[in-house]
Amino acid sequence: MMDSVVVVGAGLSGLTAGYRLAESGATVVVLEAGPRPGGRVGTEVHGGYVVDTGPDALTAGYSHYLKLIADLGLQGRVADTAAVIGLVRDGRIIDIDPGKPWRLPFTPALSWGAKLRMIAGILRQRSAIAGVDSYDMVSSASLDDPEHTAADFAAEQFGGEVADYLIDPLMRLTVGSGAANASTVNVLGALRAWSSSLQTVRGGLGFVTDELAKRLDVRYGATVTRVDETATGVSVGYRDQSGEHEIAADGCVIGAMYNRATEIWPTLSSASPAFGDKLRHVKLISVSLGYSVRAATAAYPVLVPTVENREALLIFMQHNKCADRAPAGHSLVTIYTDTTVTDGYLDRTDRELELWAAGIVEGLCPELAGHRDMSVVTRWPVAGYLADPGFWRHSRGLLAALPHDGPVKVAGDLFGAGSMESATRWGERAAAELVRRNR
Ligand SMILES: Cc1cc2nc3c(=O)[nH]c(=O)nc-3n(C[C@H](O)[C@H](O)[C@H](O)COP(=O)(O)OP(=O)(O)OC[C@H]3O[C@@H](n4cnc5c(N)ncnc54)[C@H](O)[C@@H]3O)c2cc1C
Repeated sequence: MMDSVVVVGAGLSGLTAGYRLAESGATVVVLEAGPRPGGRVGTEVHGGYVVDTGPDALTAGYSHYLKLIADLGLQGRVADTAAVIGLVRDGRIIDIDPGKPWRLPFTPALSWGAKLRMIAGILRQRSAIAGVDSYDMVSSASLDDPEHTAADFAAEQFGGEVADYLIDPLMRLTVGSGAANASTVNVLGALRAWSSSLQTVRGGLGFVTDELAKRLDVRYGATVTRVDETATGVSVGYRDQSGEHEIAADGCVIGAMYNRATEIWPTLSSASPAFGDKLRHVKLISVSLGYSVRAATAAYPVLVPTVENREALLIFMQHNKCADRAPAGHSLVTIYTDTTVTDGYLDRTDRELELWAAGIVEGLCPELAGHRDMSVVTRWPVAGYLADPGFWRHSRGLLAALPHDGPVKVAGDLFGAGSMESATRWGERAAAELVRRNR
């Protein structure tokens, strides 16, 4: 039996690991540097608007995340989003409704030739698509070609129009930047993942991490400064308002991001220096705007191809995600900056970012102009790991180089696809490995 475990970080991965370890009988302490649970997951309420400030979208394919919600007794909170997907083409939003398949051949989103090339490409790649686990892409690392981008692969397989108007915006949705900055594996992973319907959690995604934290001993304002392996397990040093402390435990799960985790557990960087050397971060700013009228589009995600707008990554119509995100008759719209331009936007004031966002949103949805009544800006200088060409190979190298029999386990979304599903899975995997080790 695993008796005592220290978990570093009360993000989704750390909380999941802690919850599964506690289920198996361990005594768990979660040390969190910040003042609240959730890490990158967060929900803020502004008037009648419920704003998910970090992650936004999940699919019915998030099997581990949805099972976790069910285990927490919260399955009644899972809801389907609107099925309609928007695509920006020629400066306007085209709604694509998978619920009306007879209309799909006629959508002006793609030309007839592009639709045929898309179908042919998907048929050609169908076994490769079926073979990729969208939330464990490190296991498909051999398909990751460091010399070719997702844009090259998409143009070869589907032709230029599909590459620009379908694959590129799908990469922006799932990677944080366009196909020119993404690995070929992500094309297969995104096509696999996005064949599942979109779902959400009533009350906001932060509800899940809040509920997990309520079931655990989480110490906030506790910054871990070192994790050392000892003859009997681990010694974890941390600092809080009252000073420096040390906890001895049988094991430790690190749920902090790579850049923070390497500071406290140097084995992570020394195991495979190539990973850290090549690592680029996803950088985003999200701007959520409330409007006192409804937008005309019925879509929840509105995909924005790079050729249409290099700066605006993606738009979510949150009121079409779930009715509780905006007051009746209102709209809540979130728009993100693309990773490649975010550095140039981080120093802008909230007001400047609000005006930038409103210019694009109201250009696409002129019916909203003059009705803005709320805005929330969230800056993410380190939002995740950029899955650029070669990333999955380096990730596999790191995973192989880490000690597998030690008392320290890494959770987090490092080896997945930067998603809540991969954070959940790797949290569970870290917990299971510790339990197995001490059985
Ligand atoms: C803007 C944005 C949009 C996203 N969109 C989506 C989406 O639509 N769908 C999706 O599935 N995923 C999305 N993601 C990704 C998703 O949020 C993450 O994959 C997931 O939340 C990662 O959880 P985690 O626990 O691994 O890491 P984190 O949430 O980063 O948690 C790490 C925790 O460790 C704490 N910590 C760090 N260092 C220390 C230390 N030394 N001592 C103590 N505590 C420490 C941090 O404070 C933090 O709370 C998005 C992320 C961002 C930022």
